[in-house]
Amino acid sequence: MNYRHHFHAGNYADVFKHAALVALIGGLQRKEKGFLYLDSHAGRGSYELESVTRRPDGSEREPEWPAGIGRLWTEERGPLASYLNLVRRFNRERGGGPATPGFYPGSPWIAAELARPVDRLALCELREDDADALAAEFRRRSNVSVRTMDGYTAVRALLPPPEKRALVLIDPPFESSAEFSEILSALREGLRRLPGGTFAVWYPVTERARTEGFQREYLALKPPPTLVVEMRIASDGSALRMKGCGLLIINPPWKIEADLIAIGREVAAKLGLDDGAGASTFWLVPEA
Ligand code: SAM
Repeated sequence: MNYRHHFHAGNYADVFKHAALVALIGGLQRKEKGFLYLDSHAGRGSYELESVTRRPDGSEREPEWPAGIGRLWTEERGPLASYLNLVRRFNRERGGGPATPGFYPGSPWIAAELARPVDRLALCELREDDADALAAEFRRRSNVSVRTMDGYTAVRALLPPPEKRALVLIDPPFESSAEFSEILSALREGLRRLPGGTFAVWYPVTERARTEGFQREYLALKPPPTLVVEMRIASDGSALRMKGCGLLIINPPWKIEADLIAIGREVAAKLGLDDGAGASTFWLVPEA
């Protein structure tokens, strides 16, 4: 496994995913009953941005955050405001200055920050060093558990939760071509165990055919209502390999569509690179 999220922390895809995560958690929290937040591919939870300019072998690497969170750092209003306030608070708490981001949170920190005492977090990460960092980060939080384990196995093992409500974030590295089929089999099992659970799957928009193939196979699971939100920073003709990203959201919270499209449009408008930038949303499986 070569993937290190550190190099991508705070890029446009993180901005989109984390702003959407804030909206999704808010949507689930409209009900008083607590839920399990299961992060199947949790990462470290905290990233020091200045240290991402060098690879482990010492060679230089262009950081991705300046074209992402770096360009939104001073935004005060709009659909990203709650997310940006959280990220700025995280940066301040870690000792970062106000002018530019020095520290960026991962999805576990964002979810833990928003969790109520009735909510519970299960964070799974396969890399031992990242899982250890996560465990250290949350050692004082009684409603957070960290597991060094395969996230797909966790979807099978930890559902259904006693709360009977869950938000499952599946955010894999997509290093291998088998990722989509692993996601599908985890969703099959996850939905069998908790048909009413909310699942959010992040995926990159690279070659359109691959995403469409994934969506076709997903429909064969006969899944419950499913919303897709995609945002792009570049047109199909761009030399960029990843032109955008999407979230496939099963059983989305009520009326979340408007918030998510607003987030996607804002990220595309502020961070887009050409006139192919934009956002779209559609119901892959319509609400009844
Ligand atoms: N969710 C994180 C966030 O938003 O801050 C970022 C996750 S990153 C895209 C993917 C993570 O999955 C990496 O930290 C990687 O080490 C981890 N990983 C890779 N394969 C895994 C697996 N089978 N199970 C659990 N974690 C895995």
